Amino acid sequence: MKYIGAHVSASGGVFNAPINATKIGAKAFSLFTKNQRQWNAKALDNKTIDLWFKELEKSKIETKHILPHDSYLINLGHPDSEAREKSLQSFIDEVQRCEILDLDRLNFHPGSHLRQISEEECLDNISESMNIVLDQTSGVKLVLENTAGQGSNLGYKFEHLAYIIDKIEDKSRVGVCIDTCHMFTAGYDIRTKEAYDKTWDEFGKIVGFEYLSGMHINDSKPPLGAKVDRHDSLGAGQIGWDSFKFLMNDDRMDDIPLILETIDENIWTQEIETLYSFVK
Ligand SMILES: [Zn+2]
Ligand SMILES: [Zn+2]
Repeated sequence: MKYIGAHVSASGGVFNAPINATKIGAKAFSLFTKNQRQWNAKALDNKTIDLWFKELEKSKIETKHILPHDSYLINLGHPDSEAREKSLQSFIDEVQRCEILDLDRLNFHPGSHLRQISEEECLDNISESMNIVLDQTSGVKLVLENTAGQGSNLGYKFEHLAYIIDKIEDKSRVGVCIDTCHMFTAGYDIRTKEAYDKTWDEFGKIVGFEYLSGMHINDSKPPLGAKVDRHDSLGAGQIGWDSFKFLMNDDRMDDIPLILETIDENIWTQEIETLYSFVK
């Protein structure tokens, strides 16, 4: 079964996320558990936590179909050890927020080398940081997102994800989230059945479907291989509807959060309905 939702607003408190998800007919959702553009956040207070569990129960959305996203400021691969430490501490705080909210996975962008170190050194920094985080926390899977490869962001090749996973000591607590827009602008075609099969076959061989813990379902404004991260509404971009039809009938994407991060939130309800209508 497919669990489709969107990255909904948690403004006013995390408990608003399940409320907003319900409003658009979502069976899954993403949220930021704190302001994504700031380093520091107030600890979650008891009232907020109580409301979260109440609203979550009302929404009937299960924890495994929720894919929280970390702050954009965090760079676990940072070339500078002090800056990396700051990211690490902030990331541990994010994981602990997930623990409190009973969330079992946290989605993040692997990291950037900022053109100061090699790709390999940056990937090593990321896996080393992740192992420290895993040591100090429990119950939350760290979900690496593939990137478009814009700037010096790593994670745009399946090999990057596999390299990191290989170095993680507790493999039961690492996963990946594949963003269709990022995948496409990174150079992986998914527009025809043949291209779709070839790309996912490659994913299966290099990374492995056992790690697939969520997806971001976005169309792409830039063309194949442009390495630019610009989402579009489904069917309006360069990927087109066919690819999303294949996805909806691919049981390898069952039972994980499938999250829209498309640009027009006014049509999320429709986009979710359309995706469900493709399921045969
Ligand atoms: Zn994404
Ligand atoms: Zn993106």
